[in-house]
Amino acid sequence: MSLPRLLTSTTLACGLIAILTACAPRSDQEVGEAVVNVYSARHYSSDAQVYAAFTEETGIQINLVEANGDLLIERVKQDGLRSPADVVITVDAGRLYRAEQAGLFQASDLNGALDQVPATLKHPEGKWFGFATRARVIAYSAERIDPSELHGYEDLADPKYRGRVCMRSSDNVYNQSLLAAMVEKQGEEAAEAWANGVVHNFARPPQGGDSDQISAIAAGQCDLALVNHYYYLRMARSNDGDVKAQADAVTLFFPTSETEHTHVNVSGAGLAAGAPHREAAEIFLQYLLSDKSQRAFAELTNEFPVIETVQYDNPSLAQIADFESEPINVNALGENAGTAQRIFDRVGWP
Ligand code: FE
Repeated sequence: MSLPRLLTSTTLACGLIAILTACAPRSDQEVGEAVVNVYSARHYSSDAQVYAAFTEETGIQINLVEANGDLLIERVKQDGLRSPADVVITVDAGRLYRAEQAGLFQASDLNGALDQVPATLKHPEGKWFGFATRARVIAYSAERIDPSELHGYEDLADPKYRGRVCMRSSDNVYNQSLLAAMVEKQGEEAAEAWANGVVHNFARPPQGGDSDQISAIAAGQCDLALVNHYYYLRMARSNDGDVKAQADAVTLFFPTSETEHTHVNVSGAGLAAGAPHREAAEIFLQYLLSDKSQRAFAELTNEFPVIETVQYDNPSLAQIADFESEPINVNALGENAGTAQRIFDRVGWP
């Protein structure tokens, strides 16, 4: 009588605790089947669907531990090789770089599956890879900006837009990575001149997330901003008429000129350094690159698949998918993150 009750409450408590703290994963013997311990900083509907489909197809259970990006890295780092993590998932190459530097990953070519991922979207030694991409682009007022005047990110620093630019704060990794890419492409001096110009164009002190910048443009508080494309698509595809109306007042501009291409970042994953279930973990990582998973990221999270041949049903995403990505390895975003942060500090971009 008491044994099943004990098991039930332990399992329940474990599920609750796993969200915030390390909770010892059930061993293979206990569950009687293979398991993979996935530590993720993502909490998207697409991922839940991918995990469920993976277990159904392979019989491998997923023990999911969720935490926010920086906390997740810190936790696996503190546990070191004793960490039960098999797989670590997070967003932004800047974070993946920090995780790699902290020794969280080991290299794996995933039995050749990693060859499918473009060279610019994975760690040079195969320690992590992007399984979906996001473009950081210019959002502008459809009413007050003539798109024929737009060229690229440099416009945000142009004095003619004084008092018309909204930005989120520099402590967010998305803007850090964008500036890190500029350091990589144009050098530190040019990147600093750009950041300085943007600061002079602020319509208000940096605040809010990406969606808030879109709302601010719609509300007439500013005319230009930087956003990751999926925030815009989420609003544009919303069933809430007010939210959709905000997106309708805003258009995205994807820089594609001789000198400047669109800044692209990744959602990424890697095999944990001390993975106790290495084989199952590699099968899971390969599954993130399967047609079914790639399609789920495109249809449910509005991210671009890394496998270009993948077909998906999301006309809003397909409509903006034709752009040129900047030709640098996303690992460079992490390498230049320190330089980018120092620039933000020097130019007074809080
Ligand atoms: Fe995001």
